[in-house]
Amino acid sequence: MNVLVINCGSSSLKFQLINSDTEAVLAKGLCERIGIDGSLTYQPAGGEKVKSAKAMPTHTEAIQFVIDALTDAQTGVVKSLDEIGAVGHRVVHGGEKFASSVVITEEVKAAIEECNDLAPLHNPANLIGIDACEKLMPGTPQVAVFDTAFHQTMPEKAYMYGLPYRYYDEYKVRRYGFHGTSHSFVSKRAAEFLGVSYDATKTIVCHLGNGASVCAVLNGKSVDTSMGLTPLEGLVMGTRSGDIDPAIMEFIAKKEGLDIDGLMKVLNKESGVYGLSDGVSSDFRDLSAAAEAGQKPAQIALQVFAYKVAKYVGSYAAAMNGVDNIVFTAGIGENDGAIRKEVCSYLGFLGIEIDDTANAKRGEEVVISTPDSKVKVLVIPTNEELAIARETVALL
Ligand code: ADP
Repeated sequence: MNVLVINCGSSSLKFQLINSDTEAVLAKGLCERIGIDGSLTYQPAGGEKVKSAKAMPTHTEAIQFVIDALTDAQTGVVKSLDEIGAVGHRVVHGGEKFASSVVITEEVKAAIEECNDLAPLHNPANLIGIDACEKLMPGTPQVAVFDTAFHQTMPEKAYMYGLPYRYYDEYKVRRYGFHGTSHSFVSKRAAEFLGVSYDATKTIVCHLGNGASVCAVLNGKSVDTSMGLTPLEGLVMGTRSGDIDPAIMEFIAKKEGLDIDGLMKVLNKESGVYGLSDGVSSDFRDLSAAAEAGQKPAQIALQVFAYKVAKYVGSYAAAMNGVDNIVFTAGIGENDGAIRKEVCSYLGFLGIEIDDTANAKRGEEVVISTPDSKVKVLVIPTNEELAIARETVALL
């Protein structure tokens, strides 16, 4: 079956058409600036990537352009919509309502909408994408795959904040965690790759991309993760601060005359390694170059990032009373051997030793620890689209 995987943002839409039998990507692309002017980037497998301007007042036009491209006589990869068996949607927040993926119905849409205030930028966009697909592909089954679902197995002690209980009772203020599709995919794949039983292994996944989080996976279940009610908590990220003393907000608000929106913008968009490096970049390639050129703020940004990842790994080893495998994934985790090495330099107490030759490899599944290392350290490239396609087919 061919599955159209859709990741809908407020003004963008990423897509992949995946043949679920061969798991080959037939075509992929991106609609950008929806509601502004609009462009479609489209690339069929083995073909050229083409970007063209297209007027996209709403997501419905965007999805129509995607369908047109996929079925185009020259560059298309299917003859008609009949060859698309299902649509899998990435949905950011499922709150406590969804502990796994679901086939989308009117009730499911209503439940996703009830989670809108937990992810006001993302969930409404995800719903718009679902509605647009329903309109343009009536009768094609659609599945929602939630970023939060994998973490619904976290115990109360991991997800409750030290806040008045009624905030949880009344508003569901608790830790949810994100990147669940990636943490689940990567931890499972690591066990397969190592030939160990997923149900009897302790894994810590470091998903280090522009957004970054660490997850403790005990016997195949998420028991703790570093993001919280929102993706702002936890690691120092590209532009997000991660954990800070909450009283800093009042302090800075008074100093700089900021309101709550202004503060949130600082914490989400102007902090992290970007802020720490004094605005050099949020991209680790630029940061490494600046650090090598002797720029102190970039050096500090990289050190703070790695130190924080190591501290989370250490705390999750405590949470699980041990760890068998540590897995690096996503843009930084898959590509930046220096960061992996630095993170692991704090973890000698776990009996970890890194093999520098293996750690120099890029973009492949590889064990980067030495044969003697007490804990296996691996790189496993994540593939959230494939995970969504698999979930979609499994449900149908
Ligand atoms: P997201 O999906 O959260 O946007 P990705 O997982 O694609 O992020 O990761 C993007 C980040 O990965 C970039 O901002 C950059 O910091 C890092 N990255 C990508 N390629 C490399 C590389 N070759 N070396 C170091 N860092 C890289």
